[in-house]
Amino acid sequence: MSATSDAHLQNSLRVTEIFHSIQGESSRVGLPTVFVRLTGCPLRCVWCDTEYAFSGGESLSIADILQRVAGFDCKTVCVTGGEPLAQKNCLPLLSALCDAGHSVSLETSGALDIGGIDPRVARIVDLKAPGSGEEAKNCWENIGLLTAHDELKFVLASREDYDWAVSACRQRRLFERCPILFSPVQGQLDPTQLAQWILDDRLPVRFQLQLHKLLWDNAKGR
Ligand code: SF4
Repeated sequence: MSATSDAHLQNSLRVTEIFHSIQGESSRVGLPTVFVRLTGCPLRCVWCDTEYAFSGGESLSIADILQRVAGFDCKTVCVTGGEPLAQKNCLPLLSALCDAGHSVSLETSGALDIGGIDPRVARIVDLKAPGSGEEAKNCWENIGLLTAHDELKFVLASREDYDWAVSACRQRRLFERCPILFSPVQGQLDPTQLAQWILDDRLPVRFQLQLHKLLWDNAKGR
């Protein structure tokens, strides 16, 4: 992939926050990571924990973002939101971060097209279970674009959500496509119960708790 052009570096995005923390999810869990949280999301999941990213933020050029990220001296970067793909300049930002030598992941809702993303980026794609209130927004066409380099995440609020996720994984052969993550919605589904269901059903999924919430109680900028 060619280096990001100077013109792209002047493109701007709305950014809610850039911060250094421990990755709380995915196969990168536990890694010191710089998070670039882009502003805005077209969804309204009932259990959303980043509503403060729906609006506001500051306008930063890609060059500005690269400079701030570089200040943390950290190879691993996660672009998140909100829904980062809601801003078209997210794509050149991701390429620019890769060009700068970072190991980049993208957290996306699964509602928008993930085609066109730089192949060096690991795509962490949510699929919205019924309990989110946003199941109808799932873009199932994305499934065919996923590779073993990507991950699919299900955030589950109930047994009904769990059964829905298992059914989706089996019917669409998702276990064979990429790593699958199952997480409980904090305060709604008992983590121990979810872990037991996964064991009982012999599911080849990764159970995960959001490490950053255990460490910092989901404080903003953490
Ligand atoms: S997609 Fe993510 S940021 Fe948007 S409402 Fe759902 S949980 Fe919140």
